[in-house]
Amino acid sequence: MLKINNLSAHYGAAQALYGIDMTIAAGETVALVGANGAGKSTLLKCLLGLQKPSGGTISLDEKDITGTSPARMVQLGVALSPEGREVFGNLSVFENLQLGAIPLKLGKAEESRRMDEVYERFPKLKARKKQQAGTLSGGEQQMLAMGRALMAKPRLLLLDEPSLGLAPRIMDDIFAIIRQLARGGTTILLVEQNAARALSASDKAYLLANGRIVQQGNSGELLNDPMLRAAFLGAASDENPAASRLGAAGLTNIRLEKPAMHTPDFMPAFHNEQELKDHQLRGLQWTVAHCYEGSSHYRKKFEAAGVAPGDIQSLEDLQKLPFTTADDLRTGYPFPLRAVPFEQIVRVHASSGTTGKRKVLSYTQKDLDDWISIFARCYQMAGVTALDRVQVAVGYGVWTAGMGFQLGCEKIGALAVPIGPGNIDMQIQFLLDFQSTVFCSTASMALLMAEEIHQRGIADKINVKKIIYGSERSSRSMRRKISDLFGGAELFDITGLTELYGPGTGIECSDHDCIHYWADYYLLEILDPDTLKPLPEGEWGEMVVTSLCKEGAPLIRYRTRDITRIIGGPCSCGSIMPRHSRIRGRSDDTIKFRGVNIYPSSIDTILSAVPGLGSEYQIHMHRDSAERDHMNLIVERAEGVDGGRTAELIHEVVHQIKKQILVSVNTELVDYGTLPRSERKSQRVFDKRITDEIV
Ligand code: ZN
Repeated sequence: MLKINNLSAHYGAAQALYGIDMTIAAGETVALVGANGAGKSTLLKCLLGLQKPSGGTISLDEKDITGTSPARMVQLGVALSPEGREVFGNLSVFENLQLGAIPLKLGKAEESRRMDEVYERFPKLKARKKQQAGTLSGGEQQMLAMGRALMAKPRLLLLDEPSLGLAPRIMDDIFAIIRQLARGGTTILLVEQNAARALSASDKAYLLANGRIVQQGNSGELLNDPMLRAAFLGAASDENPAASRLGAAGLTNIRLEKPAMHTPDFMPAFHNEQELKDHQLRGLQWTVAHCYEGSSHYRKKFEAAGVAPGDIQSLEDLQKLPFTTADDLRTGYPFPLRAVPFEQIVRVHASSGTTGKRKVLSYTQKDLDDWISIFARCYQMAGVTALDRVQVAVGYGVWTAGMGFQLGCEKIGALAVPIGPGNIDMQIQFLLDFQSTVFCSTASMALLMAEEIHQRGIADKINVKKIIYGSERSSRSMRRKISDLFGGAELFDITGLTELYGPGTGIECSDHDCIHYWADYYLLEILDPDTLKPLPEGEWGEMVVTSLCKEGAPLIRYRTRDITRIIGGPCSCGSIMPRHSRIRGRSDDTIKFRGVNIYPSSIDTILSAVPGLGSEYQIHMHRDSAERDHMNLIVERAEGVDGGRTAELIHEVVHQIKKQILVSVNTELVDYGTLPRSERKSQRVFDKRITDEIV
């Protein structure tokens, strides 16, 4: 939207700005951070036409506007909330607000409509609308200055030192309003001395010192840059000469409110694939010996397969080992696969099994420490830092979810809000009051929350930037919808299973095309679920895992039933950890229909691609008296889609399914919001053909 190109400015012979380049895209919040006298005000004056630059250009929407008059700038949609507020002390709040729209020559009705919008955003101003502005507190004057700028309905809002001279609590209020404006779509240039505040409220930032841009980039990264942190703290001088360059450049008096943040690194220290493989072989050899010595169950299985610990000489020797299945866990109830004496076990967890006996897993203290570390690694990969507030809306109790999300969060140093699932009203209240930045739940729960946020119209009042969800497949359209209704939050699919620690064994990276899994803690094989032979890289098959350092209940070639595939080659995110696709389904929940194997995810994919359909659907299977199978698909229309389009949409669904998975289905469309939403996993497949044999 705004582009500043090679801008320079002089006061007489003294040069104040040197070749400034800067861009602001529509919808972005950009921070311009610098100390007093760094040139921030000069840059703003040039932008507003209050000072003539001595070189360079400023363009708005690709039109050159260098030197345009201040009144004309307001008409072009650029408004300023100035440093020191500059409210007119003898005029009332109401009259001050009127001044903001003068250059636009609005009619009375429009003026009063805009005034109402400003009052809605700043209820304190409404309460004091007849009061003289000079009698307002500093925070209220700041609100008035911002409200006055908003009267012009600017496309680009310039905020000059909004935090100056305010108490921290008032500053919180002001920055909460800035974030709301940003989420509402206003493009903002935030000019600040307070680096920590400005960086945490913006998308990208420019650091200005002595009239030059000395650093620029993603605000979150700048905030966590150790050198910059040192510079902000003024600790740059002796030990760290690189930082003193910035210190000398005038950044040292920028205040950072928190002491140096401890950012631990949970990523493995491997430099190449060979180092990882050496580590894996050592782990495999240790695990096989540990199972053989510690577990009579495993020893019997090894002996039956004719394999002993000494036979494991390479990673390929993994093939010699027998498989472990859910049945081994059930028959060993209540302490299956246990390979250490009871005095070393400090905790058990159990899966939320629906039929038969639960799967119970034993943990030593080292197992728990390992689990917490890999969970913290997941948060790290999702970009969660000590500055985040993490609302944990997954189940607490004997299953692994809540505990894992909670302890991993505390390990990375973020603030945990352990609320658990359900309780929508409290969830919403906490999102608003605590301004949680990360929301963790199942995909179904995230969707439920997204719809609730939408219904209550509060997307611009919450502050969720990331959603970490797991334990359930999710279609592309469901992900898109959750992200949109949450005001543009970024989604991260986290994987895991109770048998292998719990959630946190891998996570989607910022590229969002894959799951990185923690190959230094377990080996992953992709096998054909029927023949149990390894499949080539890239082919879909069953994920089979072998733990490398698990003590309490180690896993040897455990059949997870999860269907995925290996993604080869390096990831553009830069991580060296290997990758697999997002989990596509379970080998035991493929639908066998008229001789065709159907993964429910392929139905997801097809429905997601038909515009006009919602994200919710159900698949019902039944068998008629002639032993013929039928599939009925019930799909929601998207919100606001006219019932008159039903025939057309049904035709498209039937046609696409026939074309892509070669089966005929009966399709029924229902209104948006008809199908049940669940906080847990939503049941989508209802197979009434077989009387229950699913375990
Ligand atoms: Zn990646």
